[in-house]
Amino acid sequence: MERTFIMIKSDGVARGLIGEIIRRIERKGFKITKAELLSPTRELIEKHYEDHRGKPFFEELVAYILEGPVMAMEVQGEDVIAVMRSIMGDKDPLKAIPGTIRGDYANTVTRNLIHGSDSLEHAERELELWFNHKM
Ligand code: UDP
Ligand code: MG
Repeated sequence: MERTFIMIKSDGVARGLIGEIIRRIERKGFKITKAELLSPTRELIEKHYEDHRGKPFFEELVAYILEGPVMAMEVQGEDVIAVMRSIMGDKDPLKAIPGTIRGDYANTVTRNLIHGSDSLEHAERELELWFNHKM
């Protein structure tokens, strides 16, 4: 069964949306197989977002994730990587369709509540990073 890495970002935890986001994942029929509320180090966040290093929004992104605890999860199901990306919605508030998590709860490109792996390769790398090699 396919697995993906999902993170409820610091704004999602701070806004009390853990339950709402988990409800949406579970009602879709996906299984949450690991979950941990943790305060990640800067090193872990920079590694998680290493593909974005050097981009103009990188520092703002890292600082935002570091604002408070995040909920790291492993989620399993058929085509879970792509289906979770569609449940999440686009990062651009103008493109995030109502009914998606970001479409319903986010209004900026940065503070968008949730991360989900975008490919099999990234899912494996991110699950390993968050659950097996804690920094
Ligand atoms: N981000 C940002 N400004 C941008 C693009 C992205 O602050 O112009 C942040 C946003 O929080 C986004 C994350 O960086 O979720 C990762 O960007 P990516 O393009 O990978 O979007 P995602 O995969 O999260 O939809
Ligand atoms: Mg991405």
